[in-house]
Amino acid sequence: MVSVDPRTLAEVSGPAPQLAPISRAPMTPGEVRELWAFVHGDIMVGGIRSILRRSLGLCPRHAWGYAAVEIELWEHGAGARGGHQPFDLTILYKDLAAELAEKLTAHHAPWHTDLRDVITPTQGCRICSDLHGTDQAHPPVGYAGMNIPALTDVSNRLQWTAGWIRETEPLWRTQVCPVCAQPRSYHSDEHPLLCRHHMVGAPLHAAQAAQVGRRLAELSEQMSGLVQSMTGDGPHAGPEQNAAWVIALSWFATWETVLDISASPNR
Ligand SMILES: [Zn+2]
Ligand SMILES: [Zn+2]
Repeated sequence: MVSVDPRTLAEVSGPAPQLAPISRAPMTPGEVRELWAFVHGDIMVGGIRSILRRSLGLCPRHAWGYAAVEIELWEHGAGARGGHQPFDLTILYKDLAAELAEKLTAHHAPWHTDLRDVITPTQGCRICSDLHGTDQAHPPVGYAGMNIPALTDVSNRLQWTAGWIRETEPLWRTQVCPVCAQPRSYHSDEHPLLCRHHMVGAPLHAAQAAQVGRRLAELSEQMSGLVQSMTGDGPHAGPEQNAAWVIALSWFATWETVLDISASPNR
């Protein structure tokens, strides 16, 4: 396990996310339409993969929206669960985590003392930019005449997403970013990492960066196992593999959604 980030909480103050998490403001029909189209193929387009590398995935709201739309709407899939699983999402964030891990653990010259640029997006969220200026309450009809209001309703229930979060809580609750956790406290003998969002608020020195990189490499490896388990004849995923996407996505896109869902007795 990585050691504690020596910076105090007062030193880290990344900018607040611009949009409320999906656990506080339900997704609009326009968002669900975009995210469902994203799950269905946009993500595989080469140009989009390079945009996603520059933007380090999606903004916090849409990263969790992407997870929720895929998990809630994908009813039939391969593997032991047979559906309601974050397949495309895990592939994307496994790749992003591996790429950052490589950059953060590379041998850096001693004078290169601040590696925050590695974990700072150089491009905005793809979904935000696609939605900009559109009427999100009344999006155009989706392909194959899909019933966007019905899909939006199902997605916003977060039923299966909440199931994953509850099931994996014993593994993630010791690893919550201490800034995201406030004012809640998550007692842990381990030393949890700040999420990416809160890590960019202060210089990231090479030794700390290497620790973060090693943890991301570990998560990426576990997510590879999870992806395998969602294929036709892949082995079953273990608890750590099932939790890896929750922890990795929270690192990229803050813990707010996970903490809200965990604290909500109605989900
Ligand atoms: Zn966005
Ligand atoms: Zn955080």
